[in-house]
Amino acid sequence: MPPTAPSASDTVFDRVSALARETGAINLGQGFPEIEHAPELLAAAQRALVEHSNQYPPMRGLPELRAAVARYYVQEQGLAVDPAQVIVTSGATEALAAAILAFVGPGDEAVLLQPFYDAYLPLVRRAGGTARIVPLEAPGWTIPFDALEAAIGPRTRAILVNTPNNPTGTLVSRADLERLGALCEASDIVLICDEVWEGMILDGSTQVSPLHVESLKDRSVKIGSAGKIFSLTGWKVGWAVAAPALAERIAAQHQFLTFTTAVPLQWAVAEGLALPAEWHSEHRARYVAAYHRLAGGLALGGYAVLPSAATWFLTIDLTASDLESDDEAVATRMIREAGVAAIPVSAFCGDEPEKGYLRFCFAKEDATLDTAIERLARFR
Ligand code: PMP
Repeated sequence: MPPTAPSASDTVFDRVSALARETGAINLGQGFPEIEHAPELLAAAQRALVEHSNQYPPMRGLPELRAAVARYYVQEQGLAVDPAQVIVTSGATEALAAAILAFVGPGDEAVLLQPFYDAYLPLVRRAGGTARIVPLEAPGWTIPFDALEAAIGPRTRAILVNTPNNPTGTLVSRADLERLGALCEASDIVLICDEVWEGMILDGSTQVSPLHVESLKDRSVKIGSAGKIFSLTGWKVGWAVAAPALAERIAAQHQFLTFTTAVPLQWAVAEGLALPAEWHSEHRARYVAAYHRLAGGLALGGYAVLPSAATWFLTIDLTASDLESDDEAVATRMIREAGVAAIPVSAFCGDEPEKGYLRFCFAKEDATLDTAIERLARFR
C-alpha cells in the first residue's frame, strides 16, 4: 500500500457512527435527510429509464443537463454560465477529485481552510500534493487573511474554499471573495470552491460564488451537487463549472476517473433543475423550519448554538454550553448517556484539530428532532 493511502476505517466519523449503530442512538450525525421531498425527480428518473438510451452519455455530461445547470445558475444566483463550462461528474466528490488532480501535482501545495470537508485532505495527498492548513477564526469562522497569506508559497497551486461551509454553516462574503481574488491573482493560484450547499441557504441570503467576482471568474472552479439541491444524496450527480481553459483540464481528469455518470439520473436532474424558483424555496422552507426547531430546542436546553446560515447542520460551542472541550469525548458520552449522536468538528480537521464544537444534522422528521431535544435537555 502506498504510504499516502488514507485509512478507510478509523476516522472520528467512523468511531462515532459505529458507536451510534451499536447503541441504537438517534443519529443526528449522519448528513442525510430522513424524508425524500422531490417526487418530481423520482418520477423523472423512472421515465428516463424507459424513454431514453441507457448507454454511455457524452463524457462531459448530457447536453440537456449541462444547459439546465447553466439556466439554474441564472435563475437562482443571477450568474451567467455557458453550458460549455459545465462538466457533469459522479457527485461533487468526483468534481473535487478531478479539480484537485487537474491543478495540484506532486510537490505542489494546496491551502485548506479548517474546518474542511473530509475529502479534501486525502484528495490533495493522493494528487501528490501537500496541504497547508489555515484554521478559520472561531466562533464566527472568518478567514484570517494574514495567516492565509503566510501559508501561500511558490508551490501553492490551489486554495480550497467551501461556501456554504460544512460543518459550520457559514458563508464567505463577497468582500472576502474579492480579497481571495487579489491573493490568487498575485500568486497565480486557482480557487476550488465547493458550493454543494448553495441550494440550502436558510437565512434568505443569496449565494455569492467566485464566478461572480471579476478577479476570480477565470481562475475558479465552482462545484455543485444535485444530491444536495434535491435532498437525494444517494444519486451522486454533481458538476464542476469553470472557464474553458480550466474546464478542459478538469475534463481530462474526469475522463479517466469515471468517464461519465448514470444517464437516467442525469435526465432527471436536468428536469429537476428546470423546476421554478418557488419549488426550490418551498423545498428549502422545510429545512428552515427544522433548523429553527432544533436550534430553539437546544437553546432552551441550555446549549450554546452557533448561528447557521446554510446547510443541514448546526454546531454547538461546548465550553459555552458548560461541557468539556474535548468534542470526541462529549460525543461519546452523549451517545452512551443521552442516546443522541452528533459529529465532533475535529472530524473536519487536520493534525491540529478544533475540538470545542459538535455538529448536529437537523434534516430529520419533527418527531426525531423532538425526541433528541428531550433527551439532550436531560444530558447537560
Ligand atoms: N462537499 C461538501 C462540503 C459536502 O458536504 C458533501 C457531502 N456531504 C460533498 C462535497 C459531497 O457531495 P456528493 O455527495 O455530491 O459527492
